[in-house]
Amino acid sequence: MFSITEKATQKRAKLHNKRLVLKTIYDQGPISRADIARTTHLARTTVSSVVARLIEEGLVAVVGQRSLDRGKPAVLLSTVDNVRRIVGVDLGGREIQGVIADLRGAVIRRIQSPLAGLEGEAALEQLYHLIDALIAKDRESILGIGLGVPGVVDVRQGVVRQSGRLDWWDLPLKKCLEDRYNLPVHIANDSHVAAFGEYTFGNGQDVSNLVLITVGMGVSAGIVLDGRLHFGDSFGAGEIGHLTVVRGENAIRCACGNKGCLETVVNEQTLVEQAREIARRNPHSPLHHFAPSPEAIDLDAVIKAFRTGDEDLQRVIMLMGRRLGDAIAAIASILNIQRIVISGSLADLGPTFVEAMQTELTASLHPMLAAQTNIQLSRLERDIVLKGAIAVVLSAETGLV
Ligand SMILES: [Zn+2]
Repeated sequence: MFSITEKATQKRAKLHNKRLVLKTIYDQGPISRADIARTTHLARTTVSSVVARLIEEGLVAVVGQRSLDRGKPAVLLSTVDNVRRIVGVDLGGREIQGVIADLRGAVIRRIQSPLAGLEGEAALEQLYHLIDALIAKDRESILGIGLGVPGVVDVRQGVVRQSGRLDWWDLPLKKCLEDRYNLPVHIANDSHVAAFGEYTFGNGQDVSNLVLITVGMGVSAGIVLDGRLHFGDSFGAGEIGHLTVVRGENAIRCACGNKGCLETVVNEQTLVEQAREIARRNPHSPLHHFAPSPEAIDLDAVIKAFRTGDEDLQRVIMLMGRRLGDAIAAIASILNIQRIVISGSLADLGPTFVEAMQTELTASLHPMLAAQTNIQLSRLERDIVLKGAIAVVLSAETGLV
């Protein structure tokens, strides 16, 4: 008879071996049992029994054979990536975006529903409707639900501490969703989630440290340290949008209550308003080619005019870029993280915008650190929070990423 502790230890070892073998097949497949044993340093018999269980569960399948010079050909195994599915939700935009993805993060189905004007209970109801519709067909195969929420999110308790935009205060969102769906739920701040998405599926795959800066309706950062998200002592790590950058009478009041915060001068709406002002002042501005009137100018028109070389617009955007570069220098000098990635709607301004940040970074950082710190644009574009939400579930529930 085993004691309870021995049983628990054996159970843990079995789970560890299962995750290790599954991850090896996920990362290196198609792969033979012998190569799995070599990679994991597990006994051949252990590998065979774990593989048998994984095949039975449908997570792994035989995909072919590799002929050897001598002896039996080696059977090759791969993971079955669409046998389990993950729900990812992004609550940070004007709409709720939801996807169902496979184990590689590939999107299988996508739903969005309007969020503008919805707050509190109504926003929560809208979220329920979206998830209901998403999982209706796949209920049995779903591993878990991941969500990126704007605001301060207590990851350990699963509670949204403050989300001004959704009017959620101390909302136990994880519990609400787990009770309703009986599935594992993982929630975090949307910028933090985005950073993990970039780390897992984007420009962070070759590094273990990364800072992801989101520039859109506001400015915020997510930090990955040694392959793990860094949340901070009260889950506010990376709130660079509220660094004071303007002082004196020009400082604008920020939603946080302070004046002159970075995100009061660097955000999508301010950029659009400044572009409208440029168009009103200058009848020859290229902005007029992309909108019928100054009032009709939107971010898309701004980006197009910027690319054609509107000088006034370039001045405005370069100043925003330099201000971001300054904030990035502060992060880079404290953490010495070399990979900085830019996402959010303003990332569509492209490489010239990044160059302005890099110039300011070079000017305000220790030369050795500046030479090693590289700012890039995200490749994940608008799906970055969704990809991050999927990665958070994959990491917590399977250990695959
Ligand atoms: Zn602020």
